[in-house]
Amino acid sequence: ASSFSNLPDAPVDEIFSLNHAYVADPNPNKVNLSLGVYRTEEGQPWPLASVEQVEQELYTQNDPARHEYLPIEGDSVFLGHARDLMFGFNKPDADVGKEVEAKKRIASVQSISGTGANHLGAAFLAHHFKPKHVWVSIPTWANHHTIWELQGIERKGYPYFDAATCAFNFDGAIATLENEAVEGDVILLHACAHNPTGVDPSKEQWKEIAELCQRKRLFPFFDSAYQGFASGSADEDAWAVRYFFNLSTPLEMCVAQSFSKNFGLYGHRTGAFHLVTNGANPAETELVRKNLCHIIRGEYSMGPRYGSTIVKRVLGDERLRAQWQDDLTVMSSRIKRMRQALYDELKRLNTPGSWEHIINQNGMFSYTGLTLKQVLTLRDEFHIYLLKSGRASVSGFSEKNVAYVAQAIDNVVR
Ligand code: PMP
Repeated sequence: ASSFSNLPDAPVDEIFSLNHAYVADPNPNKVNLSLGVYRTEEGQPWPLASVEQVEQELYTQNDPARHEYLPIEGDSVFLGHARDLMFGFNKPDADVGKEVEAKKRIASVQSISGTGANHLGAAFLAHHFKPKHVWVSIPTWANHHTIWELQGIERKGYPYFDAATCAFNFDGAIATLENEAVEGDVILLHACAHNPTGVDPSKEQWKEIAELCQRKRLFPFFDSAYQGFASGSADEDAWAVRYFFNLSTPLEMCVAQSFSKNFGLYGHRTGAFHLVTNGANPAETELVRKNLCHIIRGEYSMGPRYGSTIVKRVLGDERLRAQWQDDLTVMSSRIKRMRQALYDELKRLNTPGSWEHIINQNGMFSYTGLTLKQVLTLRDEFHIYLLKSGRASVSGFSEKNVAYVAQAIDNVVR
């Protein structure tokens, strides 16, 4: 007798299996719009210039401690920079005394990139906060479902994407949370560049979401995977997180922070998790931090060293930080150019339908509005790979393939 033949079937990850199919496709015209990774005009990965400079330094410095273990909570210098970048501390005009107090509210630990930060937050809250539900946007990054399912917390959905307008369904989201969320529920929010829709709340809408969280005592959980990558400005992309953090009546909240996209460190699993207390009990932050370390120790002992070393060196050096800003501009502006190029081509072809949403959406992805049937035709007949939902990773476009893709879209929608 065997033990595992009655296991339930586990779903295959759509994004990675689609990428696999793309790699195996011999057609020379194939276009990969599946994975959320930055690509150059030539369709190649791009190590950031700022990151390469640190890598060269690391190589020549030949530090014998470079493969040592990190502490359980991670590299404390990295964590300080990660926190300051997220919450906007240490600006030239900062009120230092106020910031010293504000920082005391935040327990920060290193994570296995953004996924690991989401997981750590879910595990911590499931153990110590015991929410009845976690509310995720409809739709959301598919892994949010998996992460919370594995913690045994019931998932509920709030309306997010309005298919008719290809915009944020603010009224639907607010009405559902207002009527159905209960005190202590976790509300999962994408800090910017919502995945998969590319649609974000406006600042005024964020303020109303914050007000709702305060009034109904809901627990905001920010997932920040695209800070600086989306708009080119790390400050702009952190606006919502900082607004929630700086409310005059302090909220409890948390932030999962990824450095995969904004530093191009995908495979190095670089990230941080920040749990923000309301400051009522000054000893609480340290208690939270110790409990997070307890989970980390039991699960993976500590985060990886290479990526966090790179991020800390870039953020800690004025010249490298300026280079990083240029790198963010390179990536975010190419993506915006490709949105515009696709839009212009569809207009030129008089493709039926309205395509403004392609230029209005933000960040790495466009929710094209293409149907499942159209997506499958694009794959089977044109070798263009996007998700079944119609999500396209915009960085898969280039000056060379955008006309081909637009023509194919035009064919399938007519
Ligand atoms: N959250 C969201 C919404 C994402 O889009 C991603 C990247 N696809 C992540 C988290 C985490 O990615 P990583 O684990 O590589 O940081």
